[in-house]
Amino acid sequence: AVAERAARWTGPGATADGHRVEVLANVQDGAGARAARERSAEGIGLFRTELCFLDRESEPTIAEQAALYGAVLDAYPAGKVVIRTLDAGSDKPLRFAAHAEEANPALGVRGIRITEQDTGILDRQLDAVVAAANGCRHAPWVMAPMISTVAEAKSFAARVRARGLTPGVMIEVPAAALMAAEILRYVDFVSIGTNDLAQYTMAADRMSARLAAFTDPWQPAVLRLVAATAAAGRTLGKPVGVCGEAAAEPLLACVLAGFGVTSLSAAASAVSAVGAQLAAVTMADCRRAAEAVLSATDPRSARRAAADILN
Ligand code: PEP
Ligand code: MG
Repeated sequence: AVAERAARWTGPGATADGHRVEVLANVQDGAGARAARERSAEGIGLFRTELCFLDRESEPTIAEQAALYGAVLDAYPAGKVVIRTLDAGSDKPLRFAAHAEEANPALGVRGIRITEQDTGILDRQLDAVVAAANGCRHAPWVMAPMISTVAEAKSFAARVRARGLTPGVMIEVPAAALMAAEILRYVDFVSIGTNDLAQYTMAADRMSARLAAFTDPWQPAVLRLVAATAAAGRTLGKPVGVCGEAAAEPLLACVLAGFGVTSLSAAASAVSAVGAQLAAVTMADCRRAAEAVLSATDPRSARRAAADILN
């Protein structure tokens, strides 16, 4: 029955009682964006631009970048597209943005931190987004990965606004989740990356199968940070999305909606299952489930509490 409902789902994302929650897709190129549209995703919630360049020896030119970004924008000429600036380093090393060997790359110069000494790569990428967006009905949203301070968010937002684009940041470091209200003063939206948020909250490598129980997105500590970030967004009236793997799990997606998250972005293959599950529950039940998981003390009881209410 669940698979049947998913096969019939055509969006847009909403609960059974009509509360809107955008259902978006995570992609890495134009083909992926077209596939997401086929599966009724309303837009792109995370375009991982660094994945376009993993094999490059040198920095792609602005024109090369603009062509790749334009291919994703073309799939959604009137819809939302959130372009993430290069998340270089750690699990996604880029040769042209390389830096000295580090003992702990996940805690090193990655994401927005590559701009600390030289903002050139970021400035050229933003210029490429502007070039790609020429002719779009909606200016793309642009967000930075691995923000850990308010100052980083403020300076990124200024660079993005100067080009007429809409700035946001990812919340994937616990420090940023705890400072979400202050960060949201400077940016127009945030998107929670639960993969890294779990890794850094639980001090467990997201790539380690052996530590997978720690990085389970149902960990109550991680969910409390997600809930606090969503609450900050509600207070300020600004969108808060989730684009980590948590958003791809239909039951957890409903819990996130209950926290007040305004969009969910998942792999295209998960979009219809998430949309169908949302359409089968009321917002009141999502909120009850959200409250229940916040008082759970481990992932298994959090999951069970949510399932008891939502299934
Ligand atoms: C995340 O960390 O949850 C995220 C969406 O970004 P990535 O998986 O690309 O690090
Ligand atoms: Mg991440």
